[in-house]
Amino acid sequence: MYGWNGKFLRVNLTKHKAVVKEYDASMARNFLGGRGFAAKILWDELKPDVDPLSPENRLIFAAGPLTGFTLPSSGKLVVAAKSPLTGGYGDGNIGTYAAVQMRKASYDAIIVEGKAETPTILLVEDSTIEFLDAKELWGLNTFEVEDKLRSVYGPTAGILTIGQGGENLVKFANIVSQKGRGGGRPGMGAVMGSKNLKAVVIVGSGELPAAYPKDLKELGAEAYREVLTKPNYAFWKRQGTMMTIEWSQENSVLPTYNFSEGIFEDAEAIGGFSMEKIKSSQRGCPNCNMTCGNAVKDADRKESELDYENVAMLGSNIGVGNLKKVAALNRMADEFGLDTISLGNVIGFAMEAYEKGLIKEKIPWGDYKAARALIEDIAYKRDIGETLAEGVRFAAEKFGGNANRWAMNVKGLEISAYDCHAAPAMALSYATSPIGAHHKDAWVISWEVRVGRDRYSEEKVDKVIEFQRIRGGFFECATVCRLPWVELGFELEWYPKFLYAATGFEISWDELNIIADRVYTLIRAFWVREYGKKWSREMDFPPARWFEEPLTKGNLKGAKLDRAKYEVMLNMYYRKRGWDERGIPTKTTLEKLGLKDVAKQLNKRVKLWE
Ligand code: SF4
Repeated sequence: MYGWNGKFLRVNLTKHKAVVKEYDASMARNFLGGRGFAAKILWDELKPDVDPLSPENRLIFAAGPLTGFTLPSSGKLVVAAKSPLTGGYGDGNIGTYAAVQMRKASYDAIIVEGKAETPTILLVEDSTIEFLDAKELWGLNTFEVEDKLRSVYGPTAGILTIGQGGENLVKFANIVSQKGRGGGRPGMGAVMGSKNLKAVVIVGSGELPAAYPKDLKELGAEAYREVLTKPNYAFWKRQGTMMTIEWSQENSVLPTYNFSEGIFEDAEAIGGFSMEKIKSSQRGCPNCNMTCGNAVKDADRKESELDYENVAMLGSNIGVGNLKKVAALNRMADEFGLDTISLGNVIGFAMEAYEKGLIKEKIPWGDYKAARALIEDIAYKRDIGETLAEGVRFAAEKFGGNANRWAMNVKGLEISAYDCHAAPAMALSYATSPIGAHHKDAWVISWEVRVGRDRYSEEKVDKVIEFQRIRGGFFECATVCRLPWVELGFELEWYPKFLYAATGFEISWDELNIIADRVYTLIRAFWVREYGKKWSREMDFPPARWFEEPLTKGNLKGAKLDRAKYEVMLNMYYRKRGWDERGIPTKTTLEKLGLKDVAKQLNKRVKLWE
């Protein structure tokens, strides 16, 4: 095979054993890589009802056929497992040297199973695998661990680590690399912690196998030049995703006070231009010439890497309007290894619960000191932090009242940073995302704002599916960053050319869309298999707040979602995906996508057809 290495590394932490497993070309052609590989492995290897925090769960680091080649933004990998937060499929992507090093070490994925007896570092140096004692690292934060390991393994070693959040099994703990590049929102850090795996270090020295290396090199050089010519490039380099704060405020989608409003009185103070004034450095993922990580000196005088999502969720969503303070909260989250989106959502939820008298702990809106204390309590699962560490779905049950109506999650995953009172397509995108409410798969909000907010139309359903195919399908499987296309308009036509030069296969966008549908449908089958009889179409609904409590401020005052019209869009979505009225893939769809075995197993588990 070219492009792919054709090998997975399977690691058993209980037995301290590692074996190399070759996979065949059909795996590569049917699932491409990254998310596709992870979904297939989790479906094949996990029995339903496995406890996500047990040794039986698999923690998968997976890359795709373009990862690590000298191509724009190709330094990412996907981390996946059954999620302890949602009980369904969970994944995330991380821009990290570990992606490049894993591929150079000749593996397309590392599959980790079992549980080490004591805290462990997994060291992968090409074909040499070692299990090192991590007792001295246990209890340290992700930045401290990174510093210690980097001093031993050098500036370009791949290092993935968890902080105290992952060690203490916080359900939205993530995995962090290179001080601030985190991924795996649905508790991938907790899965790593449950295995006593403090860090993974990867060093590879091989050449990636390209079908046409000279062509690929030339194509890559041309593509990097093309990125530089894009009109938005200069402004992107200045602000990265931080420019979205101002845009969201203008369009009333900036999550504010636990998603009850779409505008924030201090938006300017936490926006892209304010960030520019205190910017201290710029960082990025490997192989990227867009470097969108803007670091600032925070209120603690430490460097904190900001982007739109973490500033909106730890700023406007909890009422903190001082960027240096927001940056300090963000840095704390990165150090502890907590997902910033879920964290901001959970803190906003707690502040609202205090306002409504559901909890006695004093956590008023915008209280920076209270937020800091809460982050520590969550990371160490102390006091009320113990409940909040389980995520808002769980906390809402515990707090009682009607808290589940404003616990802002879908399928247990906290919503990321776009308010949808007046954005039905974005609401549908959140509701049908394969990991729970996340913007990664179909960020249709900017398109929706352009074409009209109030319509509930077939065109919108089509756009959600189109974006899910490209973003959640191709980019997550390939595994390369979507932002050159999303933010600068780097043309999609480049990618089949990259694939041809790397793999030798002519893979058209039509074929890539079929792979995306296969992966989406397999992931949906995974959710249904896990939830069994408890699965219902209600799981594809955004929270009640957006249907019941209109915005009270700004140009869109009075706006809320219409449940009946949303139902119509959801039905349309199911039909187009070939899923039934409960959102379950039909036998015909599964068979058409080459998932006949999945159909059989699913039927055995939940009796869908005779
Ligand atoms: S655009 Fe940003 S997130 Fe994407 S690869 Fe480059 S630095 Fe990483």
